Amino acid sequence: MRDDVKKLLSLQETDQSIQSLEAELIKIPQLQEAAKEQLANDTAAVAQAKADFQANEVEIKNVELDIGTRKNSVDRLKNQQFETKKNEEYTKLGEEVVRYEGQIDELETRELELMEIADDRRQKMADAEAALAKTQSFVDQEIVDLEARATERKADLAEAKATREGKVADINDEELMDTYTRLFNKREGSAIVQVTDQKSCKSCHVQVTPATYALAQSGAAISHCDNCGAILFP
Ligand SMILES: [Zn+2]
Repeated sequence: MRDDVKKLLSLQETDQSIQSLEAELIKIPQLQEAAKEQLANDTAAVAQAKADFQANEVEIKNVELDIGTRKNSVDRLKNQQFETKKNEEYTKLGEEVVRYEGQIDELETRELELMEIADDRRQKMADAEAALAKTQSFVDQEIVDLEARATERKADLAEAKATREGKVADINDEELMDTYTRLFNKREGSAIVQVTDQKSCKSCHVQVTPATYALAQSGAAISHCDNCGAILFP
């Protein structure tokens, strides 16, 4: 392999590392955000479960108050019944008592239903809290891990960039560097590629001409793929 092509190939390896490190460093904050979002969702679910439970508790209290009011009315009516001397009024008060007692029955049935709902909602609240606790510990660890990974990758990137500078200085050929840079960007990181024994370019997979293949083999000059322009090495 020609010396300049060998150096370019080595530079390309470094540039590929830089590219993937930069991509990872973009992704890390996104992963952290996703973890935080999951935590926020689980926190909101707990708050909702608590609110649902509380609303039901308020309803139970109201039903209990209604029952209490009607029981007081029944006591009052029974006293009046006891004190009256008129038959007609006695009967009328008795009917009122029956009406209130009917309402008390209905309210007590409703209270039982609400208590069953309370059991169900208490369970849902406990489930939501358990899910949140699990997510919390997972997310805390995840964020710490991602932070450590970011620190590590930043150091790797700084090192790769320093290595790159050294390699570019060693190539010391502006025109060749321009060609390389253009190809690297255009061919998504594959500027310097092997041409196989079947004369196929490993970047675009098109067969090169025998002359191009021969040039890559001899190394008399830099050989470019006839189709994609990539710099070829044997
Ligand atoms: Zn090609």
